[in-house]
Amino acid sequence: MSESLVIVGNGMAAARLVDELAKVALGRYAVAVIGDEPRLAYNRVLLSSVLAGETASHEIELKPANWWRDRGVTLKYGCAVGEVDVGRRELKIANEESVGFSKLVLATGSNPLRLNVPGVELTGVHTFRDSRDVDLLLTLAAGKKRVVVVGGGLLGLEAAYGLAKAGAPVTLLHLMDRLMERQLDASAGALLKSLVEKKGIQVLLNASTSRILGENRVEGVELNDGQQIEADAVILAAGIRPNIGLAKEAGIPVNRGIIVNDQLQTGADGIFALGECAEHRGICYGLVEPAYEQAKVLAQHLAGRTAAYGGSVTATNLKVSGVGVFSAGEFLGSDRSEAIVLSDFRRGIYKKLVIEDGRLTGAVLVGDTADALWYLGLIRNRENIAAVRKDMMFGRPAAPLAAAA
Ligand SMILES: Cc1cc2nc3c(=O)[nH]c(=O)nc-3n(C[C@H](O)[C@H](O)[C@H](O)COP(=O)(O)OP(=O)(O)OC[C@H]3O[C@@H](n4cnc5c(N)ncnc54)[C@H](O)[C@@H]3O)c2cc1C
Repeated sequence: MSESLVIVGNGMAAARLVDELAKVALGRYAVAVIGDEPRLAYNRVLLSSVLAGETASHEIELKPANWWRDRGVTLKYGCAVGEVDVGRRELKIANEESVGFSKLVLATGSNPLRLNVPGVELTGVHTFRDSRDVDLLLTLAAGKKRVVVVGGGLLGLEAAYGLAKAGAPVTLLHLMDRLMERQLDASAGALLKSLVEKKGIQVLLNASTSRILGENRVEGVELNDGQQIEADAVILAAGIRPNIGLAKEAGIPVNRGIIVNDQLQTGADGIFALGECAEHRGICYGLVEPAYEQAKVLAQHLAGRTAAYGGSVTATNLKVSGVGVFSAGEFLGSDRSEAIVLSDFRRGIYKKLVIEDGRLTGAVLVGDTADALWYLGLIRNRENIAAVRKDMMFGRPAAPLAAAA
């Protein structure tokens, strides 16, 4: 009989793990996936496109129902797992049903951070994490509600763009002095701001929210400097927190995330974690690529093969509010590095390549990201760039790196 493997969470990491497992260990496990959301796993990244009206919600499903069936996976969706009993090797679903497991994988993702300010519990305060949130935001936009989005990182920008595109007047508040400060330097942040403002979004930097105004419903937002902004709704997009509650209550070691080793094994025997809920070598990744790399390693490990996850070199390569943005590596530079910069604000283009010891160590691109993957390859492979340095700002040479010398 197949060994029982239960995956908690039916998000992007879980779906990829099942995919990888089916390739290397088909039939070895009886797999059950239990997910809180009331639908099949979908591409969460594309929620931004759904909000912007560029993609229909049903089009973002990662796999159709028969794909799961064909792989013999038992799917329970719309079911939150409320408790894991490590010793008895069973978990409880909210309706008190018990499910036994031999091996368990926690793939519970993250939760949006709630601001710790008065008024955060008012009706009209929302987040942007799942398809239920998107449905709500689309209703706001359809009603032309005035919206304040708190957070000028990727999620906040995507929420602001989608809402503005759908017709809502949007003000974006960001605590820092530039947008996406974890991915962009000051010039890139300034260009992005001007491009976002051209889409009709009002952007306020250095804006610290002190309270959300209203009796029962949101009526506005007050900033630390006393400024008040009228609003019918507030979207909190100021960060995420790994969803570690289940693991913590089960006595599985956690820090910011659920602590895992190079085989994605938690501190409890036969229990694994991956994706945004996991913390590997002190890092909780908030992106999908590391989750996919982890899924591959975990599937190999569960198939009895030797595999180790050594961490991911992350890069941001996306359309933010309709603008191409790429950032990777040590993009700010240091005393030891030098930078080649192309700045053409009139055309909405900014490129910065950071070089150290004859190697590309970081890059930021705004407006023109056509060569992003080439730059990422150079950074990841630590290639010597002497042969291409002169022209590399203008893109990949026709001949391969070695031949270009
Ligand atoms: C709007 C948006 C845009 C994004 N854009 C990008 C992007 O451009 N690039 C990028 O790399 N990343 C992006 N991300 C992040 C990316 O979506 C995540 O990194 C990825 O989804 C992580 O996968 P995961 O499986 O770990 O978590 P999730 O996909 O969040 O899945 C976790 C699942 O577990 C479920 N769950 C939690 N607790 C329980 C429980 N107790 N019982 C049952 N089920 C439970 C949750 O309901 C959820 O369905 C974006 C995220 C959002 C919200």
